[in-house]
Amino acid sequence: MQVLQGIPVSSGVVIGRITVLDDVASPRVPRRPIRPDAADAEVERFEAARAASIEELNLLHREAQEEMGDEAAKIFLFHIGALADARSVSDPISAMIRDELVTAEHATWRVFHELAKRFAAKRDSTFQTKVSDLMDLQSRVIRHLVGSRIGQPRRLERDTVIVARDLTPSQTAAFDRDRIVAFATDLGGRTSHTAIIARALGLPAVVGCHALLSAAEEGQTVIVDGTLGAVILDPDDETIEKYRSLDVAARARLELLAELADEPAVTIDGTEVELLGNIEFPDELTKVLAAGGTGVGLYRTEFLYLTSDRPPTEDDHYAAYAECVQLAAGRPLTIRTMDLGADKYTQRQAETPERNPFLGLRSIRYCLQNLPMFKAQLRAILRASAHGPIRVMFPLVTSVAEFRRARMILRDAMEDLDELGQPYDREMPVGMMVEVPSVALMAPTFAREADFFSIGTNDLVQYTLAVDRTNERVASLYVPTHPAVLKLIRDVVRASNRYEIPTSCCGEAAGDLEFAPLLLGLGVRTLSVTPSGIPQLKRLIRALSLSDCERIAKKAISFDSETEAADYVRDHLRKLAPEAFDGRAVDQRTGHEA
Ligand code: PEP
Ligand code: MG
Repeated sequence: MQVLQGIPVSSGVVIGRITVLDDVASPRVPRRPIRPDAADAEVERFEAARAASIEELNLLHREAQEEMGDEAAKIFLFHIGALADARSVSDPISAMIRDELVTAEHATWRVFHELAKRFAAKRDSTFQTKVSDLMDLQSRVIRHLVGSRIGQPRRLERDTVIVARDLTPSQTAAFDRDRIVAFATDLGGRTSHTAIIARALGLPAVVGCHALLSAAEEGQTVIVDGTLGAVILDPDDETIEKYRSLDVAARARLELLAELADEPAVTIDGTEVELLGNIEFPDELTKVLAAGGTGVGLYRTEFLYLTSDRPPTEDDHYAAYAECVQLAAGRPLTIRTMDLGADKYTQRQAETPERNPFLGLRSIRYCLQNLPMFKAQLRAILRASAHGPIRVMFPLVTSVAEFRRARMILRDAMEDLDELGQPYDREMPVGMMVEVPSVALMAPTFAREADFFSIGTNDLVQYTLAVDRTNERVASLYVPTHPAVLKLIRDVVRASNRYEIPTSCCGEAAGDLEFAPLLLGLGVRTLSVTPSGIPQLKRLIRALSLSDCERIAKKAISFDSETEAADYVRDHLRKLAPEAFDGRAVDQRTGHEA
């Protein structure tokens, strides 16, 4: 038995068997044994990946021919030829899988690696120049193999726990929920979108485990404790028994919490709090309502791009939004325009990676440079607004000019619909995320322009403290209770009150039991959180008074250090509402059970 500690990002406990997703970008794919009876399936998997690669290369060849002519496109013919060459590539790979009983990924990696070594050793420079092409081919086939593990459910057994170096949000969103029960990765942070998706899907998950990939074995039994951030390889009987009873206790707690679904979220001194849900897929709206949420405060529409091989059309957008409006049945529904880029990228963006993606062409910046795509989304949102109330908001606004430009494009979209005689809500509120310090610092200016604010703490914390939200190495520096962050939030709320526009908070911190009371104390009255987080947040709100929240927020903001602020908040809240913290919880800094 081996216990690895990581960052807990999605609570719950699961016992399953490991499937490793090897890393395409890594320079080496480790040797992983397979069972003898799995060899045929593994060879088939390789053949499918080879066929998919050839198909992709044929397409690239045609595109290159059209754009750059025959000569430039020739390189793809070499790639196709190499993959079709049974003697040097496919036969040795199949033979290695069968003879050595290793995964298709490892065999592909080794055969290409050895071929590249032979090419590099030749005197003839035409061979030497082909080495990087072979490496390119190698990663193309492995990428298809890794994709096929997720995409072909027949090959995954029930109770599969995915272990990987890292996972993208789109990989996670494509998980087959009937078979994949949890995941654990070496990299990642608590507010990365991969973690957010894990919570949305209700999959226990641990990220930032550092050495898990090298320790894990294919098919090994594993426990993923997404509440405490432990990954236990090859657990002994006693540990399995302990986790089985923890699971039973957790289910009983959830049943108790479910009884609160129809109760209002109101503090003991009578302040009403609006509890909304964050969603990535329309069908999550049902989960929000079942959990006792009263609408949607953030619909992350970029997942329409991330869960499909082709970009969505205006009608795809419309279908998703119309479904949401129908399910919301008159309740609040805030649709955020696409927040692509950073850790959420389309296939096209993946082909030209940015050096610094969180500071790069993401969100509203990307939309403003891709106007036909942006306008199609805006038209779809407007069309859906004819069926019920919708608010639209723009992500990652950093300047007033940007917000005005986005509004202008929205007006263009309205004119398009006017010309077509399509109905829409002319008064649809237009708001913005407050998730960069420049906006928080100039909140009064933005409050004169926008119809509402939604504070995005995931990014606001990252940009204020200069801490990458996806990087496990700096996870301990990612502290939402940092007084600098609290001061920015306080000023945003003040500005919104002064200009009488509503402000909500939809970052992950809004659902954090140690942070939400601070938001209430700073004047936020609408919290939008992951659906599964609604019941416990409601229980906490009902156990606190607003005056307690105000007192704690006032004190926390006065500290010089974020550690003192975090300790103070944790201790005080647990004294005030011990029953709201009854579950197993981890101290994020020490990693010990709190
Ligand atoms: C945020 O930044 O807090 C937010 C809600 O947006 P996202 O997590 O999608 O970047
Ligand atoms: Mg954000």
